[in-house]
Order: sequence, then C-alpha cells, then structure tokens
Amino acid sequence: MKSPVPDYLQEVLDGLVDDRSGAVADYIPDLANANPDVFGVAVTTVDGRTHSAGDDEVEFSIQSISKPFAYAAALTDRGFDAVLGTVGVEPSGEAFNELSLEGDSRRPKNPMINAGAIATHYLLSRSGASVTERVDRALEFFSELADRTLSIDESVCRSELETADRNLSIAHMLRNYGVIDSPAHDVVEGYTRQCSIKVTVRDLAVMGATLANAGVHPVTGRRVVATEVARQTLAVMTGCGMYDAAGHWLTTVGIPAKSGVAGGLLGSLPGQLGIGVVSPRLDVHGNSVRGVRMFQRMSADMGMHLMDAEPYGSTVLRSVRADGGELILELQGVVQFTGAESVLDSLEFDESGSGTVVFDLNRVDRLSDVGRRMVLEGMRRVRLDGREVVLVDRDGVLPDPDLGDGTYPKAR
Ligand code: GLN
Repeated sequence: MKSPVPDYLQEVLDGLVDDRSGAVADYIPDLANANPDVFGVAVTTVDGRTHSAGDDEVEFSIQSISKPFAYAAALTDRGFDAVLGTVGVEPSGEAFNELSLEGDSRRPKNPMINAGAIATHYLLSRSGASVTERVDRALEFFSELADRTLSIDESVCRSELETADRNLSIAHMLRNYGVIDSPAHDVVEGYTRQCSIKVTVRDLAVMGATLANAGVHPVTGRRVVATEVARQTLAVMTGCGMYDAAGHWLTTVGIPAKSGVAGGLLGSLPGQLGIGVVSPRLDVHGNSVRGVRMFQRMSADMGMHLMDAEPYGSTVLRSVRADGGELILELQGVVQFTGAESVLDSLEFDESGSGTVVFDLNRVDRLSDVGRRMVLEGMRRVRLDGREVVLVDRDGVLPDPDLGDGTYPKAR
C-alpha cells in the first residue's frame, strides 16, 4: 500500500496553487528576484518519517525562521537566566522590524521580532564571541537539526547587508541601552548571515519535529536540546512567532509556528510533528499567504489545533474488578496527572475490603514523571492501609518502583 499522506499534501497544494495574492518581499533586493510560484510542503512525524509534496527540494533562505532555533541555541549556550535577562517573552503586537523595547527593562520584547533576534544572535556561543564564532554556531546547530550540512546564500546575505539600515538602527538602539556591547555592524552582519542559511521545506519539517519531540532528533535519535529548551522555544513561538498576527494564527491554526520573509513557514506541534511550507508571496504581516492558508486547512483537516487535546485522563483506567479477594486495577496508555488522579480516585472510594490490590501495567505505554510519582504514592498509601500491593509490569514501564521507604511492591 502507498501511504495516502503525500497524496493529501498534494491535494492541499493543488487547492491553493491558483492563489497568487500577496507580494514577495522586496526590501531585501535579492528576495524580489525569487520565483514567486515556488510552493512546497513537508511533514515530519516525531517517529522520524517525512512526507512531502511540491517543491520540496528547493532551497530558500531561512530568514526569521532562524529566530526560534537561534533562541534554542542561545538558551543552551548561555542558560535561561542570561537569555531571559536580555530578551523578554511577551508578544509585542507590533511588526517584526519595529524599533521598540520594553518600557521598564529596556529589553527587546521577545526573540521572534528583529530586536530580540539580533540580541539573541549576540548571545550565541559565549560572551565576547566573534562574528564568525556566532555564525558558525548557528550553522552547526541548524545543520544538526536538519541532519545535513547547510550553507549560506551569500547573494541574499550581501543584498540584505547593503540595505540593512533598519536592522542597524535596531542594533544601535540595543547598544545604546546596553543590551549588546559588540559593534552594531558586527552583530547585524552575523544575524544577517544566520538569516541567509539555506533550507528546504524538508529541512524545516525535521527541525520542527525535533522541537515537537522535546528536543530529541526524530531521525538521528540524538538529543539536540534539553526538554526545557524545546518547551521554552515552542512557547515563545506560540505567543510571538507570527508577529502582529499571532492571535489570529493561534485561534485559526493553533500550531506553534514561525514565518520568514523568503516565504518559509515552520510549524511544530508538540508530541506530533514538524511542518515546513514555502510560498514566497507575503501578506501585510510578512507571513506567506499560501503558507498561512495551507496551515489553516491542514490544522482543520487533521485536527492539529493545540487546544483540541485528547481527554488523556478518562481512558487510563481500563478496568477495575474484584477477583478472588483481590482488587485488580488495569491501566493503559500514557499515564499523566489526570490519568493517575483517576486511579487514585478509584482507590479512595474502593469498598472491596482489605485484600491485595493488583496494579496491572501491562497495557501502559508510558508514565510521565508526575504519573509515576502519583501511582507510586497510591501504592504506598494502599500499603499503609494494611493491604498487600502487587505490580504486574511485563515491559518495565515503572522501573525501580521504590515505595519511598526502600520497599517494593510484590512483582507478578
Ligand atoms: N533577515 C530578515 C530581517 O531581519 C528577516 C525578517 C523576517 O524573515 N521576517 O529583516
């Protein structure tokens, strides 16, 4: 059988191919020469499978989609305190290239607008790093995420640097307020090189899937960033990734995302997949017109809105039954807070007496950290009630089930 997923992606492209609204960015002269009809999409699951359609091998400059990844690298290199002390996390509600800082702290409002992204680029690698060190760090990091060696579009970079007055003004403003202390020109040069790294939609999809997979690369299996860094990056993308269209995007699409002026659009749906789209004509916010529509359609068709969460809790307790003087709790699926709470609830209101309680975890896929702690605490309390506790756990989903006092439930 051939998977229908690429056919579906092709169908979505076909449905939008005649939409020629919007205009290519022309404030970077070289981008105005780009083929406006390029249109491609790729999706990578957290299991590492990629499906694509259309212009999936065409390279384009990553532009502002570099911002979340540079942010993840800066958090990794410099730690949360240093990064959060330099750049905020508040949606700005302003255009991406606004010359603005937070009123009280004088920090850029967030790392997704240029002011915050230039400051974030400045933080790369180490304090006092050179232009080359920062750019090399971005290139290496993005290449690791894309799982291939990426390179810089020198022509786009040169063209942007020749007309970079706006970003230079932002960098001078940052320097004036002590946010950066390298020469404004150096930081803008490095930032512009970072924005000129060439990617395809397939690269974006796998890069996004790494964030969606809590920082573990879905193809190489390597941990690229810490779980907390992936979460922080996705959170900032959710609030700020689509600039002054972030609220509209969150309500109509509901996928953490980032756009770039070369027409790229990245989505990263936690626990599920990464998506890359390219179509260079932009709307007034600087977001790809067909890219936004494509995401709206995919989110609706495939139930990808972040707020459409499954009711994890109610399905965890598969059955509760009394059998030969034993109370048997059969759990299944992924046990998080709500699922574990339902298990504890059934124990609290159990009236089966004082016999053995069996926790059957054979059908459990995974326990989150809190799920594990709550189930163990439930076992501990059952034992305090004077009952014997038995654990059935064929696959070892609950390793080292220490009940808090160095004792273990009886295994069966
Ligand atoms: N390099 C571009 C700039 O700084 C990136 C902007 C964008 O993609 N929105 O202006």
